Amino acid sequence: MTAPLPLPRVRVIRPATVEAAIAARAECPQHEVLAGGTDLLVNLRRGLLAPTVLIDITGIAELEEIRTTGDRTRIGALVRLARLAEDPAIASRHAALHAAAASVAAPGHRRLGTVGGNLCLQTRCIYFNQSAWWRAANGACLKSGGEVCHVAPEGERCHAAFSGDLAPALIALDAEIEIAGPGGRRRVACADLYHEEGRAHLRLAADELVTAIEVPASAARSGYLKERIRRSFDFPLAGVAIACRTEGGRLNALRISVTGTNSRPLLIDGTAALLGRRVDESVLTAAEKLVAKQVRPMRTTLFPANHRRSIAAALTRRLLGALAAPAAAEVGAPPTEAP
Ligand SMILES: Cc1cc2nc3c(=O)[nH]c(=O)nc-3n(C[C@H](O)[C@H](O)[C@H](O)COP(=O)(O)OP(=O)(O)OC[C@H]3O[C@@H](n4cnc5c(N)ncnc54)[C@H](O)[C@@H]3O)c2cc1C
Ligand code: SF4
Repeated sequence: MTAPLPLPRVRVIRPATVEAAIAARAECPQHEVLAGGTDLLVNLRRGLLAPTVLIDITGIAELEEIRTTGDRTRIGALVRLARLAEDPAIASRHAALHAAAASVAAPGHRRLGTVGGNLCLQTRCIYFNQSAWWRAANGACLKSGGEVCHVAPEGERCHAAFSGDLAPALIALDAEIEIAGPGGRRRVACADLYHEEGRAHLRLAADELVTAIEVPASAARSGYLKERIRRSFDFPLAGVAIACRTEGGRLNALRISVTGTNSRPLLIDGTAALLGRRVDESVLTAAEKLVAKQVRPMRTTLFPANHRRSIAAALTRRLLGALAAPAAAEVGAPPTEAP
């Protein structure tokens, strides 16, 4: 058995307010934000990051609140995934979010892992998420300071995949992200938090912090399905969230979002063309095709890219079919569910 890699020596700052955390971000150029630490600590041990300061935001009480006002649920960035997965109100109001939270990693990760950490998760690639000696032996790539991408050597960008489970659910549910910075707070649609570039996939300034998500209530049915290598705990090879509404048996709203295939979670274009139609075989095939055409998996996992494309398309068919069925219950992906 290999010995665990030591954590580097760092100074830890524990601000008690959002304002103090933002000031600390501006003052310490070489820092990382620490929430649940389930992703960050692994990356630190592997030498993927070299901060001199960790800004531990877990002392900011404001970020732990869940509040329902009128037709919106506000969920603080420090709310733990286990809380979302166990909350019956989240299950009944925002089924896709509930199912996505329940599908993240294993129970221990969900008890520590937070909403903000899940949204700001680093992108992943088999050439990057490795120990320092592995990376040194294989040569650095663009994301680790080298000059070539091992996945697409002729290109100039990094294709590492965003693999968070919550973002597609929030995109399907048309949620907004609240971001705090030195100039105050702003909101963006969840899809607009991301870029298609594996080295810098977040549209966050260096001194900004995700503080909350706001999810609108909706009459749409929603759900989330993912496929992974290890069913007990694993990142998605592909994950699909859908929110849809039918009236008189015909679709009158449809949003599909996919994770695990691109450097950002995708909102699938072209779903408007399916509105007004019954969810029959031809609509399921059309939705499947929209997804298969728009996702861009690359060789960033051990699974072939084309297979991940097929998974995303197949999950779309299965999920849309289940949600559009007359007695659709919550459709999700508990860790032991068969595909
Ligand atoms: C074995 C294993 C399996 C996993 N499986 C999954 C999986 O199936 N699905 C999945 O989605 N994830 C998975 N993860 C990753 C991780 O556990 C979760 O994504 C978790 O939600 C991350 O939250 P955290 O609070 O622990 O984040 P942290 O590790 O604390 O932070 C993650 C990143 O977000 C940044 N950050 C944190 N909070 C904020 C904020 N409020 N504003 C700005 N930046 C912030 C940090 O600086 C860091 O870069 C897995 C991890 C492991 C080790
Ligand atoms: S996609 Fe290319 S640049 Fe990005 S982490 Fe993988 S090998 Fe490195």
